[in-house]
Amino acid sequence: MSPTGGRRHSRTATEGAAAQESAPARDATDGSASNGSASNGSASNGSASNGSSSNGSTSNSDKRAGDKRAGDKPSTDQPADKRAVHATRRDLLLGAVTASAAAAGAVYLTRSLPKTMLPAHSSSATSRIDFARPAATVRRPTHADWAALRKHLSTRDLIRPGDRSYARARQLFEPRFDSIAPAGIAYCHSPADVGTCLSFVRKFRLPVRVRSGGHSYAGWSTVSGGLVVDVSAMNSVSFGNNTVTVGAGLDLIHFYAALAASGVAVPGGSGPTVGIAGSALGGGIGPLSRLYGTTSDNLTAIELVLADGSALTCNAAHNSNLLWACRGGGGGNFGVATSLTFQTRPLTGLCVYSLTWPWSQAAAVVRAWQSWAPYAADAMWSTLRLSAGFGGAPALSVSGTYAGTPDGLARHLDRLYHRAGSAPATAAARQESYLDAMLAEAGCSAVPLAACHTGPGGQLPRVPSFAKSDFFSAPLSRRGVRKLLSGVERIHGIDGAAGGVGSVALAALGGAVNRVPAEATAFVHRDALFLAEYSTAWTSPGDRDLVTYQHDWLGSYYASMHSHGNGEAYQNYVDPDLRDWQQAYYGANYPWLKLVKATVDPANVFHFPQSIQAG
Ligand SMILES: Cc1cc2nc3c(=O)[nH]c(=O)nc-3n(C[C@H](O)[C@H](O)[C@H](O)COP(=O)(O)OP(=O)(O)OC[C@H]3O[C@@H](n4cnc5c(N)ncnc54)[C@H](O)[C@@H]3O)c2cc1C
Repeated sequence: MSPTGGRRHSRTATEGAAAQESAPARDATDGSASNGSASNGSASNGSASNGSSSNGSTSNSDKRAGDKRAGDKPSTDQPADKRAVHATRRDLLLGAVTASAAAAGAVYLTRSLPKTMLPAHSSSATSRIDFARPAATVRRPTHADWAALRKHLSTRDLIRPGDRSYARARQLFEPRFDSIAPAGIAYCHSPADVGTCLSFVRKFRLPVRVRSGGHSYAGWSTVSGGLVVDVSAMNSVSFGNNTVTVGAGLDLIHFYAALAASGVAVPGGSGPTVGIAGSALGGGIGPLSRLYGTTSDNLTAIELVLADGSALTCNAAHNSNLLWACRGGGGGNFGVATSLTFQTRPLTGLCVYSLTWPWSQAAAVVRAWQSWAPYAADAMWSTLRLSAGFGGAPALSVSGTYAGTPDGLARHLDRLYHRAGSAPATAAARQESYLDAMLAEAGCSAVPLAACHTGPGGQLPRVPSFAKSDFFSAPLSRRGVRKLLSGVERIHGIDGAAGGVGSVALAALGGAVNRVPAEATAFVHRDALFLAEYSTAWTSPGDRDLVTYQHDWLGSYYASMHSHGNGEAYQNYVDPDLRDWQQAYYGANYPWLKLVKATVDPANVFHFPQSIQAG
C-alpha cells in the first residue's frame, strides 16, 4: 500500500520488485546523449487505455485502497520568420483542435474562434459560469443525489463529510490545507467514473478539483464545498515499444520502480509521493532532466476527460494542440488526465553523490557551481543547497546523480573542486541501481519502497512549508552571490517554529531542457542556467507566530533575489502570491494556452486562482 497524504493508493506489483542489479552505466562524459524530446513528433499511438494492463504491465487490481523566444508577443512588427511561427501555431490551434473536436462530435465547441485574431488580441465571447456561486435555479445536491453519484462510480468510493475516513480522504500532502472541506471526494477508476463526476458537478454547478498525488503547493487539488476527483486508483503501468503508459494517479517512486524493473527510465522529479499527472502536466524536473528533458518533454500521448465528459486521446496525430498544452501548461486546466504515455530510455544504474563544504567556502563554491553545473555533461544532475535551521548556522551541500561511471563522475567533480579552489569537507559517491538512486533522491535510502510514503505504514512525514521559485538565465554576480548567502545567514537571528528550516536549492538546468524551443511545448523555460526554489518548512503543527516569522523571511529573501532572475517561475511550484503568474509560468505561450482553454473548456469548469483563462 502506498497511501499518500491520506489518500488511497493501490499497491502495484512493482512494490515488490527487487532493486535492479547495479550495472556500470555508459560514461556520458562527452554529453553526447540526444534530447529525444517528443516535440519531434515521435508520438506513440494514443490508444493506451487507462487501467487496462497489457503485456509487461504492473497493474493493480485492488483499486480502492537561439532567441528561442520566437513565440514572444504575436505582434505584426516582428520579422517575417517569427511571424511564421505564430501563424503556424495559430493555424494549428484554430484549425486542428477545432477540427478534431468537431470530428469527434464533441459538444464543447460552443463558439467558433475568430479566424482573423491572434490570441493576444482576441476577446472571449464565451459566457463563463461562476461555479463557486450556483445560479438561483440550480439546487444543491441532496443526500440522495450524492448517493446516486456513489452508486454510479465503479469504485462506489465516494467519501463525504461525516464518513469515518473523511478526515484522511480530504488531506493533501501539505498539512496546512487539512481544514479545507470538500463536499465529496470521489475515487475514480476509469474515464467513465471521471465523466460521471463531471456530469454531477455540471448539473449542480459545484466547484471541482482534480487530484493525483495531492502535492499542489497552494492546495489547488482540493476545494471547500466542491467535489475532488481523485485519480490515485488509476495506477496501472504497461510497456509498449520504447514507451510506458501509466494511470494518472501513479506516484513517482512507484513509476520509477516499474521503470527500473524493466531496465528503462523517464526523467522526472524526486518527490516520491508526487503524482505523475500533476508533475508531468507542469513540467517535471529532476535527475535525468539535463540528459533527457523534463517529464513533459517525454510525454507522447495523454488521455483526457474534458469538462463535457467526453474522453479524448491526444498525441501527435490527434488533438496535438491539447498534447502541446498538456506538456507544461499546468495541471487542472484543460481536463482530467486519466493516462499518460511516455518515451522510455534504457537505463540500469546511476551514480549518486553528496558533497559538503564549510560555510567559509560558500561564496567560492556557489560561484564555481554556477559556472560548472549548467555546462557539465548532460549526464550530470546537480543541486546546490544552502540551508539553516532557524536560530542555527548555515550549511552548504552539492548533491545529485550522474548517468555514467564512477570514474567519469570523479573527473567531473574534480573540475568543480578545481573551480571552487578547494575539495569538499565531506564527499560520498556510489553507484546504485536506477531505483536505489531514485530512492536516495527521494530521501528513502534507508526506507523500503513499500514504506516510502506518508500514509499508514509509511515512514515519510507530511511536511508543512512555503515555497517560491525563480529561474536564472545568467550567473549571479558577486553581489548576487553575497545576497544569496546573506539571506540564509540571516536565519540565525530569527526565531522559527519547531523544526523550522529555511533554504534555497539551485537545480542545474541546461542540457536537454534547453535544447527544446520555448514554443515547442507549453513548458516555456528553456534558457535558464538553474532553477531556484526558496522554501521554509517546519514540524507540524507549527506555532502560528513563529511560522509567520518564517514566512516573512521567505518573502524578504525572495524579494532580495528576484531581480537577479529572469522573471520566470516554475508552474509546478505554484505560488499564490505571484502577481504576474501568467507571464512567469507561461511567458509567450500563455496566449496559446488561453486559446486551447477556450476550445476545450469554454465554460471554465476547471478553474482555480491561477488557472488559464479562456480567451
Ligand atoms: C515534497 C515535494 C517534492 C517535489 N519534488 C519535485 C521535483 O523533484 N521536481 C519537480 O519538478 N517538482 C517537484 N514537486 C512539485 C510537483 O511536481 C508539483 O507540486 C505537482 O503539481 C504535484 O503533482 P501531484 O499530482 O502530486 O499534485 P496534485 O495536488 O494532485 O495536483 C497538482 C495540480 O495538478 C492537477 N492535477 C492533478 N491530477 C490531475 C489529472 N489527473 N488531470 C489534470 N490535472 C491534474 C491538480 O488539480 C492541481 O492543480 C514537488 C512537490 C512536493 C510537495
